[in-house]
Amino acid sequence: MKQIDSNIPAGPLADKWRNHKAAIKVVSPANKRKLDIIIVGTGLGGASAAASLADLGYNVKVFCISDSPRRAHSIAAQGGINAAKNYQNDNDSVYRLFYDTIKGGDYRAREANVYRLAEVSGSIIDQCVAQGVPFARDYGGLLDNRSFGGAQVSRTFYAKGQTGQQLLLGAYAALNKGIARGNIKSYVRHEMLDVVIVDGKARGIIVRNLVTGEIERHGAHAVVLATGGYGNVFFLSTNAMNSNGSAAWQAYKKGALFANPCFTQIHPTCIPVHGDQQSKLTLMSESLRNDGRIWVPKKKEDVEKLRKKQIKASQIAEEDRDYYLERRYPAFGNLVPRDVASRAAKERCDAGFGVNETGLAVFLDFSTAINRLGQKTIEARYGNLFQMYEKITDVNPYEEPMMIYPAVHYTMGGLWVDYNLMTNIPGLYAIGEANFSDHGANRLGASALMQGLADGYFILPYTIGDYLSKEITSPKVNINTAEFEEAEKAVKAKVEKLFSIKGKKTVDELHKELGHIMWDLVGMARNEKGLEQAIERIKALRNEFWTNVYVPGTNSSFNPEIEKALRLADFLELGEVMAYDAYNRNESCGGHFREEFQTEEGEAQRDDANYTYVACWEYTGEGQKPELNKEPLNFEFIKVAQRNYKE
Ligand SMILES: Cc1cc2nc3c(=O)[nH]c(=O)nc-3n(C[C@H](O)[C@H](O)[C@H](O)COP(=O)(O)OP(=O)(O)OC[C@H]3O[C@@H](n4cnc5c(N)ncnc54)[C@H](O)[C@@H]3O)c2cc1C
Repeated sequence: MKQIDSNIPAGPLADKWRNHKAAIKVVSPANKRKLDIIIVGTGLGGASAAASLADLGYNVKVFCISDSPRRAHSIAAQGGINAAKNYQNDNDSVYRLFYDTIKGGDYRAREANVYRLAEVSGSIIDQCVAQGVPFARDYGGLLDNRSFGGAQVSRTFYAKGQTGQQLLLGAYAALNKGIARGNIKSYVRHEMLDVVIVDGKARGIIVRNLVTGEIERHGAHAVVLATGGYGNVFFLSTNAMNSNGSAAWQAYKKGALFANPCFTQIHPTCIPVHGDQQSKLTLMSESLRNDGRIWVPKKKEDVEKLRKKQIKASQIAEEDRDYYLERRYPAFGNLVPRDVASRAAKERCDAGFGVNETGLAVFLDFSTAINRLGQKTIEARYGNLFQMYEKITDVNPYEEPMMIYPAVHYTMGGLWVDYNLMTNIPGLYAIGEANFSDHGANRLGASALMQGLADGYFILPYTIGDYLSKEITSPKVNINTAEFEEAEKAVKAKVEKLFSIKGKKTVDELHKELGHIMWDLVGMARNEKGLEQAIERIKALRNEFWTNVYVPGTNSSFNPEIEKALRLADFLELGEVMAYDAYNRNESCGGHFREEFQTEEGEAQRDDANYTYVACWEYTGEGQKPELNKEPLNFEFIKVAQRNYKE
C-alpha cells in the first residue's frame, strides 16, 4: 500500500496556485546549467515543457518515436483549445471554466488542479499568439471563438480544423530555438523502454534506437513523461497509429501508481467502422456540433429504406426526424458533453434506428446551418473536415448529412501525479494526456490541448524547480551503475524473447483480438459479468501472445513489427488493469458506464458515498492482481450534484 499525498496547497481555491508558487523554491541560473532533464515525448505537452525548461536554462534531452518532433500525435487535434478569456462577452470566467470542467468530468477530478488549469488558460492563448499561431479572428481582428460540448459559452480558440498542428508548430519552433542554442538535444526515432530508478529517484531511461535497434542509456536529474494516451489498447481508435501506453506502463511496473485506468473517452462524432481490414478510425471534430444537428429517423420504415439505399437522408421530411439530443437535453442540445452524446447515439442505434447497413450510425446534418448561413460560411469554418469526410466516404456532406458513430478517442486515466505533476516516484513527472489529472471521468472537448500546454508552459516549469532545488549538488548521473545495467539487460532480453517466439500470429492479429475484447466488454457499456470475462480472456490472449506471436525481420534494422510487439505486450497488461478498475467501480460516471448503475432515463448514476476517489493501482508483480490505493476527492468549493444538461 502506498502513501498518497496529493500535495494540494492549503487556502482558498483561487489563491492556492499563487500561494504555492510563492512558497516553492527556485533554482538560480548558474545552478540550472548544471541540471539535466529528460523529456520523453514531443507532443504539445512535451514540446512546450522542453522549450520552457530550456529557456529557463536547464539542459534538456528530448525523445520521440517519430522522425521529427513535430509529427507527434498532437498535430491531429482539430477543433480547438479552451480558455476563459470572455472575448465573446458571454459571461465566461475562470470560475465558469472550472465549474464546467469539474461537472463535465462528473465530479471525479481534483478541484485544485482544475481551478489552476482554468486560471492559466488565458496565458496559453497569449503565449501561442506571441509565437505566431494563426488563430481564427473575427472581422474586427479579435480572436474568434466557437462552442464546444458541456459549455454554454463560446470559449474555444481555433485555427480552422487544424488547431493541434498550428499549436505544435509554435511549440516546435520554440523547441528548435533551444536546439540551436545548444541546451536541447533531440533524439528522434528513439523509444523509451524503461525508466531507471536509483535510490528511489528517477535517474534515467533506457531507449531503443528505432533505426539501428541499439539500446542506449540516458541519465538525468529528473525525467518527464509526456508520452500521450493509451486509447490504442482498443486497436481501433482516433489516435495516431503509433500512440501507445508503454512509457507510462513501464513507469507503473517500476512503482508509479496508475490512476483511473478505466476512464476512457468515447467520442460521439467519428466516421463509422466500415470493415475488418481497417486499422484506424477518423474523428469528425466536435466543432462540427456548433452547426451540425444530430438525428435519426422517427420511423422504422425510413430506417429500412435508408439501409437498403432506397432513399437518401435529405428526402426524409423535417417532421419525421428525431433530433434526439435537442429533444432530450434542451438546454445544451447538440452540445452536450461527449459521454452523454455517445450514449445517446448508442441508445438510438440499440433501439434499431441506426442509419447505415450495420445499424451503427446516426446523422450529423448541416442543412439547417447551410440554409441559414450559406455554404461559403460553413466551408470557411470546416472546409478541411468536410473535404476529409468526402475523401473517406465519397459522400458530399454539403448535400447529404455525415454519418457518424462513437469511437475511442482519449484516455482520462494515466499516471497518478500530485499537484506538482510528480508521480509517486520522486523526480518522475507526467504531463499531458499521459497523466490522469484534471478531466475526471470525462474530458470536455478542447480541454486536452489546454491541459497539455498548461502543464508544459505554465505548471511544470515552476514545480520541477522546487524538486531540482534539492539536486543542485548532485553530480551528473552515472549511467554505468548496476541499476542501469539491470534495466538495459531486461530490455534486451524482452526484445530477444519476442524475436525468438516465431509463432503463427502477427502482432496486428493479436492486437485486433484484444481490441474486440476491450470494445465489447470494457467499452462504451460495461457490466460485472462482462468484465470478469474480459479479465480471463485478456489473460489467455496474453499467454497466446508470448507463445504464438510472429515478429519478422531482425533487431538491427528499422523494424516496425518489433516496435508494435513491444507496445502490444504492454497493452495486454494494461487492458487487464483497465478491466479491474472498471470492475471495482460499482457506479457509472462520465465515460465509465456500468449498465447496472443507471437512472430510469438511462443516465450515469454515480455513487458518491463510496466512489468519490481516484483509483490508484499499484503493480504487485507479473500476472498478479494489482493493489488498489485510494486518493479521496474532497469538494470544498463546489456543490456536488447530479449532472444536468436538460435545464
Ligand atoms: C483526432 C484527434 C483530434 C483531437 N482534437 C482535439 C482538439 O481539438 N482539442 C483538444 O483539446 N484535444 C484534441 N484531441 C486530444 C489531444 O490531441 C491530445 O490529447 C493531445 O494532443 C495529447 O498531447 P500529448 O503531448 O500529451 O501527447 P501526444 O501528442 O500523443 O505526444 C506523445 C509523444 O510521446 C512520444 N512517445 C510516446 N511513447 C514514447 C516512448 N515510449 N518513447 C519515446 N517517445 C514516446 C511520441 O512520439 C510523441 O512525441 C484530439 C485527439 C485526436 C485523436
